[in-house]
Amino acid sequence: MNTKYIFITGGVVSGLGKGCVAASLGSLVLGKIITIKCDGYLNVDPGTINPYEHGEVFVLEDGGEVDMDFGHYERFLNINCKSSWNLTSGKIFYSLINKERKGEFLGKTIQIFPHVIDEIKNQWKSLVEQEKPDLCIIEIGGTVGDWENQWFIEAARQMRSAVGPANVLYTHLTYVPFLANVGELKTKPAQRDVALLREKGIIPDLIMCRSEQPLDAKIKDKLALFCSVERENVISVPDVRTIYELPILFKDQGVISILTNRFSIQTKNMAAWEKLVHSIKEPKHKVKIALCGKYTDLRDSYASVIEALVHAGAHLDCAVDIKLVETSAEKLDASGVDGILVPGGFGSRGTEGKMNLIKFAREKNVPYLGICFGLQLAVIEYARNVCNLERASSEELDTMTPHPVVVFLPGQSNSTAKGGTMRLGSCTAKLDPRSLVASLYGTPEAVERHRHRYEVNPEYHGILKQHGLCISGLSPDGKLAEYIELPGHPYFVATQGHNEFTSRLEKPNPLFYGFVKAALEKMLRAVKLQQV
Ligand code: GLN
Repeated sequence: MNTKYIFITGGVVSGLGKGCVAASLGSLVLGKIITIKCDGYLNVDPGTINPYEHGEVFVLEDGGEVDMDFGHYERFLNINCKSSWNLTSGKIFYSLINKERKGEFLGKTIQIFPHVIDEIKNQWKSLVEQEKPDLCIIEIGGTVGDWENQWFIEAARQMRSAVGPANVLYTHLTYVPFLANVGELKTKPAQRDVALLREKGIIPDLIMCRSEQPLDAKIKDKLALFCSVERENVISVPDVRTIYELPILFKDQGVISILTNRFSIQTKNMAAWEKLVHSIKEPKHKVKIALCGKYTDLRDSYASVIEALVHAGAHLDCAVDIKLVETSAEKLDASGVDGILVPGGFGSRGTEGKMNLIKFAREKNVPYLGICFGLQLAVIEYARNVCNLERASSEELDTMTPHPVVVFLPGQSNSTAKGGTMRLGSCTAKLDPRSLVASLYGTPEAVERHRHRYEVNPEYHGILKQHGLCISGLSPDGKLAEYIELPGHPYFVATQGHNEFTSRLEKPNPLFYGFVKAALEKMLRAVKLQQV
């Protein structure tokens, strides 16, 4: 096995999009790829961090709750990552301290150098030994110079001699600001930033420069000179209309030959990808979707849902214009939308508003997609307004409800260490072969990732069905409602899973595809009516 390593560090400011850059570089490569993300913070994983602070919690097949950059890795590389690929300082220290408590270092002083650095390198190496990839991409979160990621940077430096210089490529993402008063891109912050990285002993092979506009030849020359890299290894990463354009942009700047000159690896034909990017950039149609949630002012909170809509749109030659609707606001405005989506959520704030929008979608034949909480609220709305179960609710929202149509079912999770009671990771559902959901998946079973505590109460399945709701997918034991739909409605579908996590640009999730298609049909019908 001769695994190649690409390290990605960042500098000047955070939020430049290292995850997208790392994923885009990987997307040019053919072969098995693993992606390791190293975050400096002390949480063992991001599962307990409020989305306001850290963006969306991305859920993996194995139930791992990981950094949202894993979403980029999976979407660009079409791979299923593992939770062991998300390292944090917390995870490293936790493992080291456990070893120390078990007496594995008896008599020794445990120190950052060498123990923490060695622990990091060992974890990287053991992941590579387990997975045997052709390429291992290691992204180091934060910026060079941060206190909390120093050990990861030092471990990255040491890997050059550990695995051999010919097997390592150091990539640094930096920032080239545009100063409006002088009308110029300024290279000094990037020069200083690269100097700081060199001070830490890492000489970057590739310098990726984020900027508002593309870098011209003069700026590239200047950066090459002052950062001591080849001119063709200075890559421009300007603002783009869609992040999926990045691999194409890299390819056009010669990144493929930089990779193949360094490593003996094969690269991909990007024609199909280019076609999809073209339909995102120049779509024939456009639909408007209301995304109803609690953290709607932060697009990062719903990153995967938004991407899944983009993927479906790319395959339908249709742009998806997302209208974020804050459902705890007093006046809800979903007018003029072609579809309504209620994504996952927790707690009662904004739920009545969400249910009003679901009722509107159900009664007015507006396409609806409910994800996790979006399924539970659709069931509650149906129980109240169609089955006439007064004050029906979820135990999460109202412990005194006379009709707990959504309940906590103990025994869902075997995780106790984190105090966790969530059902996490991939679960299989058996689909009703006559249902819309089965025809969308095209298979008798569907597997999606889950992250929730509550379930539709099996005692109420009967009454919901009697009143016309179709429970179109059940857990293999027949107890848990995994999918619901409304026969006769153009598209009223909800799932207890988080189907946004399995959507890829090259392979959109079937329920998102069906939803955007239904929204597009609604929009086209409305246009036709106007013309009559
Ligand atoms: N709050 C709900 C539950 O815990 C839904 C969770 C979610 O949407 N992820 O079951």
